Amino acid sequence: MGDIQGRNNVLSQAQKYTVAQFNEEFLDDDACLSYIMNERHPGNVLTCDKCKVERKHYRITGRKVYGCDHCGTQISPLAGTIFEKSSTSLKMWFHAMFQMGSTKCGISAKQIQRETGVTYKTAWRMFKQIRTLMSEDVQLEGDSAVEIDEMYHGGRRKGGTGRKLVGDGGNKTPVLGMVERGGKVIAKTLKHARGSEVLPIIQKKVLPMSTIFTDEAKIYDALEYMTQPKPGYRHRRINHSEAVYVMGDVHTNTIEGFWSLIKRGIGGTHHMVSAKYLQEYLNEYSFRYNRRDVPKPMFRMILDQVSERAE
Ligand SMILES: [Zn+2]
Repeated sequence: MGDIQGRNNVLSQAQKYTVAQFNEEFLDDDACLSYIMNERHPGNVLTCDKCKVERKHYRITGRKVYGCDHCGTQISPLAGTIFEKSSTSLKMWFHAMFQMGSTKCGISAKQIQRETGVTYKTAWRMFKQIRTLMSEDVQLEGDSAVEIDEMYHGGRRKGGTGRKLVGDGGNKTPVLGMVERGGKVIAKTLKHARGSEVLPIIQKKVLPMSTIFTDEAKIYDALEYMTQPKPGYRHRRINHSEAVYVMGDVHTNTIEGFWSLIKRGIGGTHHMVSAKYLQEYLNEYSFRYNRRDVPKPMFRMILDQVSERAE
């Protein structure tokens, strides 16, 4: 199977960030607040609303705000961030982000509840907010090799494999996965696993001239026609039902590897994820997957999103 299983659930050395490092850098709420302030306004310098010029700002003791060094006008570094309206301490938030970046499979709200003492509801809400930071609009690049496959999540179990399901797939939620070999993944929940729903997504996300590898599922039949009349996709299929899994470069092992990560993570860590929230979980897994080779702690890449996405 793909390279994910081989590397198991462990982050690369460059992506590791230990508990000790975390506790040293983010000792308490104040440390977290000053980190966010400095990320959004380096050197704590920003244009003061009243002075209309760049001024240094200083922390107002006992409050989560900073004041202009000239006129005292106050600003909140948390304004427009996911923390703005939260009464949960920043250290708890940072701890939750740290844990979400600590493995490839992520962790459950239950674990955060155990570790920090916040209620399950609070932990769950924090995760939901952090997942919004991890959702992004990804486009596959280059005239590359792209593997496309579908999987079915949750619902009533039927005999045999998910592949035999057609249309709605019983009560299961179909998910379309597209991965560029050596590149990024996109995973999207579908209403129905049908060509009419799947094709526009592929056309939007996969560049023309790419070589697409799929199995024999009918929903990919129309990819054949899309190669005509103008340059479209090269489409290569592998016949899983005849137990032929690899024929030269014709395989879907990369996307299968991603599915196994999802299944292990959601099945093992989160137990029950309803269809309503499945996309958010897929986003979280894709975010980590798409940064698997970036030599920077995963926690920090999640943390970066706080200021990048602040309004
Ligand atoms: Zn001022």
